[in-house]
Amino acid sequence: MSENHLYSRLSAYADAHGDKPFARLSDGSSQSYGETFHNALRIAALLKSSGLEPGGRVAVQVEKSIRAIELYLGTVAAGGVFLPLNTAYTAAELGYFLGDATPSIVVIDPAREAEITPISGKAQLLTLDGDGGGTLSAGLTDEVITPEPCTGDDLAAILYTSGTTGRSKGAMLTHDNLYSNSATLRDYWRFTEDDVLIHALPIFHTHGLFVATNVALLAGATLHFLPGFDAEAIIAAMPGSTALMGVPTFYTRLLADPRLDRDLTANMRLFVSGSAPLLVDTHEQWEARTGHRILERYGMTETNMNTSNPYDGERRAGTVGFALPGVEIRIMGSEGPVDDGEIGVLEVRGPNVFKGYWQMPEKTAEELRPDGWFITGDLAMIDTDGYVSIVGRDKDLIITGGFNVYPREVESLIDDIPGVLESAVIGVPHPDFGEGVVAVVVPEDESLTPETVAAAARKDLAKFKQPKQILMLPELPRNTMGKVQKKALRETYANLFT
Ligand code: AMP
Repeated sequence: MSENHLYSRLSAYADAHGDKPFARLSDGSSQSYGETFHNALRIAALLKSSGLEPGGRVAVQVEKSIRAIELYLGTVAAGGVFLPLNTAYTAAELGYFLGDATPSIVVIDPAREAEITPISGKAQLLTLDGDGGGTLSAGLTDEVITPEPCTGDDLAAILYTSGTTGRSKGAMLTHDNLYSNSATLRDYWRFTEDDVLIHALPIFHTHGLFVATNVALLAGATLHFLPGFDAEAIIAAMPGSTALMGVPTFYTRLLADPRLDRDLTANMRLFVSGSAPLLVDTHEQWEARTGHRILERYGMTETNMNTSNPYDGERRAGTVGFALPGVEIRIMGSEGPVDDGEIGVLEVRGPNVFKGYWQMPEKTAEELRPDGWFITGDLAMIDTDGYVSIVGRDKDLIITGGFNVYPREVESLIDDIPGVLESAVIGVPHPDFGEGVVAVVVPEDESLTPETVAAAARKDLAKFKQPKQILMLPELPRNTMGKVQKKALRETYANLFT
């Protein structure tokens, strides 16, 4: 096995500290590093005997469990490509992924076996439930393998993007992509073997699988492993933990609990947020209640993490900080890089950037320049102190009467109105203007009226930016990673003006 094998790097700590607890589980038990990696090599043996060759894909749609983490490690050890799939995907959606990725092995929840068998093609089907039961575990023996040799440029994983436009694309991530980013984050966020990280994120996504799990493994930290977000369980875990990684909704939900205060979080040293924008208000409330400033970072499936607020310096609310060490960032307008303070499309280059989209050379060529710069599609700006702010997706940009409206600018203004919890600003077809600006507002209480919002917009915004319609909703549609589903809102209100 080569030294830049992701598996050898992730297992290095375990080789010397086999007894160290890797995960504390919900039933009060814990599992050691040694056992985790031994099981991974047993799974690797089973995958190989089930037909997995180096470079073969292992598609996995299962509930979160430590066995699923072992399956990830075992796949990589066997030279395979780990392909996790959102548990929310239906059989029809899975049909697309399985047809596109042609995996050698498919691992699914036993409850879905009958539904998936007809669409699994030539793949060998194994089952795994949330408690570790199913044919995968039943097939394990004492046999283990020596990890397959590979280069740092070989694929370790394919993660399908959430696909806000068109078909979802398989982002090909190499051993080096994953290792380099996890090592950078471990050092930047100061993770050590003394850390206990509360892990409540799903493990089919880059955040929970690579950011949280790989960083913990590389540091020799212990995971407080929860099956999903549960405010009660997180609150119970905090006094015995040191760090939490979450999406913004974790923080807003925890703020709703009166027990959240300085005493509860006294043992915690770090709260990280990402995957969707953290409201300035949430950042401020969190600091007022706990004394901790949430550290916001920015990344995506194709690139791992790109920027982070500093560990020691000022963590500036509403920004995603600076480019990580070894990562280059630039903001591009139609004629090249823009000046500080101007909005453009964020591009990124570095060892973290993926190899391209699986079997989509044209899409890859559209988004990944030959000199290594990846066009993220995120609109951003850099302020004079160097802090990066994400303004939205370029596809969410509204063009009304020929003018550009950045939704984030309007959302920030609306969010500052007393009585507003949050908002989403979208553009929908308009007979005169091409697109019309629509604000969807979530009120904190019943006293807020659309007229209050309209008055504030009239006072502070140019006419073309003012919402032509203000709609009140009890909540915004979000996916499991906490991202507001603007596409769904645009579909719902497509005929508002026509
Ligand atoms: P995904 O590939 O599912 O991780 O989604 C990546 C996208 O999430 C990015 O391209 C951004 O649009 C968004 N995103 C991630 N982190 C942040 C953040 N801290 N603030 C704003 N948007 C973010």
